[in-house]
Amino acid sequence: MRVTFFGPPGSGKGTQAERISEYYGLEHLSTGVLLREEIRSGSELGEIIRDTVESGRLVGDDIVNREVFGRIADVEDFLLDGYPRNIAQASDLDGYLDDLGRPLSGAVFIQVPDEEVIRRLTGRLVCACADGTRHSSGFEEGDICPECGNAFVRRIDDNREVVDNRLRQYHSLTAGLEDYYRGRLLSVDGMGSVEEVFRKLREALRPWA
Ligand code: AMP
Repeated sequence: MRVTFFGPPGSGKGTQAERISEYYGLEHLSTGVLLREEIRSGSELGEIIRDTVESGRLVGDDIVNREVFGRIADVEDFLLDGYPRNIAQASDLDGYLDDLGRPLSGAVFIQVPDEEVIRRLTGRLVCACADGTRHSSGFEEGDICPECGNAFVRRIDDNREVVDNRLRQYHSLTAGLEDYYRGRLLSVDGMGSVEEVFRKLREALRPWA
């Protein structure tokens, strides 16, 4: 199975992508994680993209495509999380995979209304361990993660102004993927508990497994 997950920021796609990849044995590639790691590493590329990511705008297609293609070139089954994020990326990805003779099985759209996105993102804390996406529950800002000893913090792009920006980018650029993937699209309601959404996704994805 080769699949991409998209949806508004805070739709739970990262959490679900992690679980679904483990369940179906897929390589999980999150461009958000990848780009944040690049920034944390202090690399030249990290410095180039820092402002863009921290203000909630999209990083250039050429940069993101190059990072993704390099990582999926030899991978049979994968789950892309947060990529593609616009029609140009989607079309470049299709072209690349067609050349490899390994087309995408399809795309999964996780739907969550804007009010819920704002509620989730402005209230969430993440832990700096591993890939920086581990979410806290029942912890306060500054509490220490029992798994790695790092503090729980607010993601720099989770403040209200940047969240509004990310939502605008989502509606103007990413939401169009729903049309682009028509005919190979699964839409799943992202409201409900992590367990409920995970169950719905497992069932929806069975035909592609
Ligand atoms: P995420 O963790 O998916 O919410 O992504 C965090 C940020 O990384 C986004 O707000 C963008 O700045 C950047 N980003 C992630 N994926 C992409 C992509 N496919 N294209 C461009 N920018 C991206």
